[in-house]
Amino acid sequence: MNKKRIPWDQYFMLQAVLLSTRSTCNRLSVGASLVRDKRIIAGGYNGSVAGDAHCTDEGCYMVDGHCLRTIHAEMNAILQCAKFGESTDGAEIYVTDFPCLQCTKMLLQAGIVKINYLRNYNNDDYALHLLKLKQIGLHQVKLDKDTLEQLPFNTYLSDK
Ligand SMILES: [Zn+2]
Ligand SMILES: [Zn+2]
Repeated sequence: MNKKRIPWDQYFMLQAVLLSTRSTCNRLSVGASLVRDKRIIAGGYNGSVAGDAHCTDEGCYMVDGHCLRTIHAEMNAILQCAKFGESTDGAEIYVTDFPCLQCTKMLLQAGIVKINYLRNYNNDDYALHLLKLKQIGLHQVKLDKDTLEQLPFNTYLSDK
């Protein structure tokens, strides 16, 4: 029997999806994986500064339509590299939602060479301009029903 392996893009994107389930902001659950040489170097989700209240407990801290409390998933992934001394130069990111302008600028400055995203999310015109200017690869990853049905999660169900 020919065992079908999950393609790299879907594999890394599913890591980002899994990370997003740890988000503590009520607004949007975002997950991001940083990948270099087919290896995950860091991951992040959107949430508060460690030790601060969670939006899921106290409500979002909203100003001008943005939640001020949260650090975005992409930034948390980059910061994990800064904290533990891993280079981000030449890495790709897999992120569940199209990055905001601030995150796009940060990713470019950190040397990210390709952005793989799952869903469109208020795609910013200036972010798109910068990505084009810097010739950054932009790729929308598709998660189709076949791929998801192929995941053997049921075989890992713990006994009651
Ligand atoms: Zn929030
Ligand atoms: Zn962002």
